Amino acid sequence: MDDDGREFSPGVHYLVGGNTKVYGSSLPRLREEDLERTEYPSGVSPAWPFRYADIEPYYGQIEELFRVHGTTGEDPSEPWRSSPFPYPALEHEPYVAETIRRLCDQGLHPSSTAMGVDLRPGGACIRCSTCDGFPCRLGAKSDAQTCGIDPAVATGHVRVLTNAKVDRLVTEKDRVVAVAGERDGEPFRITGGAFVVSGGAANSAALLLGSASDDHPDGVANSTGLVGRNYMVHNNTHIAAVDPRRKNDVVFQKTVAVNDFYRDMGDGFPGGTIQLIGKVQGSMMKTHATKVPLPVLNRIAERSMEWLVMSEDLPSPHNRVTLNKNGQIQVSWRRTNYDRHELLLARTKKILRTAGYVGIAEQRFDIALNSHMCGTVVAGTDPATSVLDPWCRAHEVPNLFVVDSSFFPSSGAQNPALTIGAQALRVAAEVEWERVD
Ligand SMILES: Cc1cc2nc3c(=O)[nH]c(=O)nc-3n(C[C@H](O)[C@H](O)[C@H](O)COP(=O)(O)OP(=O)(O)OC[C@H]3O[C@@H](n4cnc5c(N)ncnc54)[C@H](O)[C@@H]3O)c2cc1C
Ligand code: SF4
Repeated sequence: MDDDGREFSPGVHYLVGGNTKVYGSSLPRLREEDLERTEYPSGVSPAWPFRYADIEPYYGQIEELFRVHGTTGEDPSEPWRSSPFPYPALEHEPYVAETIRRLCDQGLHPSSTAMGVDLRPGGACIRCSTCDGFPCRLGAKSDAQTCGIDPAVATGHVRVLTNAKVDRLVTEKDRVVAVAGERDGEPFRITGGAFVVSGGAANSAALLLGSASDDHPDGVANSTGLVGRNYMVHNNTHIAAVDPRRKNDVVFQKTVAVNDFYRDMGDGFPGGTIQLIGKVQGSMMKTHATKVPLPVLNRIAERSMEWLVMSEDLPSPHNRVTLNKNGQIQVSWRRTNYDRHELLLARTKKILRTAGYVGIAEQRFDIALNSHMCGTVVAGTDPATSVLDPWCRAHEVPNLFVVDSSFFPSSGAQNPALTIGAQALRVAAEVEWERVD
C-alpha cells in the first residue's frame, strides 16, 4: 500500500536467490566516499559505521564468488582495490562500440560495466537478450542461488525450505528463540541459537515490526522506533534514446557505464551514474506505453538504446515501511535529493543528443519501481540512532542479525547487490558465531 492506502504492485520477486534471480547482474562496488558523510545542497548522506577499507577485502571475495567480469583504468570514479577483477570485462558489440566512440569524442570516459555472468572460458553464458529482468535458464547468471545457496546446500550443512513464509520472530526477553510461519498451508516453527533475517528492505522491516510482543511492544529491536524508517530506493530514470539513422542490432547491451559525474557534476556535488541496461524490446515497452501499437514500438526499439540514470537519494525518517491495521505493508515515500537527479538527467540527455540520439523518451521510477530499496533497519555505532551494529547485529537483541539491503545507512549511487554480498561475507567472517546465543 502507498501512503494513501492505495495498493501497488512492487518490483519485488519471491524466489530462492531473491531478486538476484531477475536482476541485471551489474555488480559495481560503492566508492570510498559513498561510505563517508557527503553534503548535498538539499541534505546529507550520512557516513557508514565502517569505512571502505573495512569492506574492501570482502568486495574481492564476493567478486570471486559471483564471477565478476570487469577492468580497471577506464572509470574516473573507480575505488581502489587490493585484488584484480577475477575475469576480463565483457566485449562491447559493434553498435555499443560506436556509441562509446561518440561519447569519447565529447571528452567522456565510458567504462566497462562490472558484470556477473559466466563468460569464463567454457562458461555457460551465451550472451542472450533476456538477462536483465529474467532468470537465467542456463544457470549462467551470477545470482544468489547459483553462486551462494546451491554451493552451500551441496556442503550438506544447509537445508532450504521452499514455499515457506516466516510470519513471526518468537522472542523471550531480549532473545529470538524461534521463527514461526507457514509452509504449503501448514504452520512451522524453527528454533535456533542465532537468527539471520534477509528478507529484503521491506520484508525484513515488516517482519521485525510484525513480531511485536509484551517484551517488544513496538516490534523486535525497535524501542527507538527506527525500524522501517529511512527507506531509500535510488533516484532512477530509464531513458530510451533513438537514433533513426542507426539500427541497434545489439544482443547483450549492458556493457558500459559513464561515471564522469559520479563524484562531481562540475558544481562540487555528486551527480551519479549513467549505465546501459539490457536491450529493451517493443513488447517490453508495451507494458508502459500501453496505447502505442506494438509495430510502432518495435520500430522504435530497433533504433533505440536504453540507459539507466541513477543518483543517490537520502535517508529521511518520514520515508518508511509500516504495517497497517490489516498487517499489510505500507510504504510512505517522497522523493529526496531530486534536484541532483534532474541535473544528471538533463546532462545525460544533452550528451545523448550530441551523440546523435534525436529522440529521447524517459520513464521516471515511481513507488512501484523499487528494485534498489534499502535502509529500513540501519546499521550504526550508536544504539540511539541505529538498529544494528556495524556487523548487522541488532543492538537490542544480541542473537538477531539483519543481513540484506536494510542495513544501508545511505544508498550511494551504484547498484546495491555486490555491497549486500560483501557485507554478508564480512558478517559471516568477523562475527564470533560460537559465542552468539
Ligand atoms: C529487475 C531487477 C533488476 C536489478 N538489477 C540489479 C543489478 O543489475 N545490479 C544490482 O546490484 N542490483 C540489481 N537489482 C537489485 C538487487 O536484486 C537487490 O538489491 C537485491 O537482490 C536485494 O537483496 P536482499 O538480500 O536485500 O533481498 P532480496 O533479494 O529481495 O531477497 C529477499 C529474500 O527473502 C525472501 N523473503 C522475504 N520475506 C520473507 C518471509 N517473510 N519469509 C520467508 N522468506 C521471505 C524472498 O522470497 C527473497 O528470496 C535488481 C532488481 C530487480 C528486481
Ligand atoms: S545466458 Fe543469457 S540470461 Fe544467462 S547469464 Fe548469459 S546473458 Fe544472462
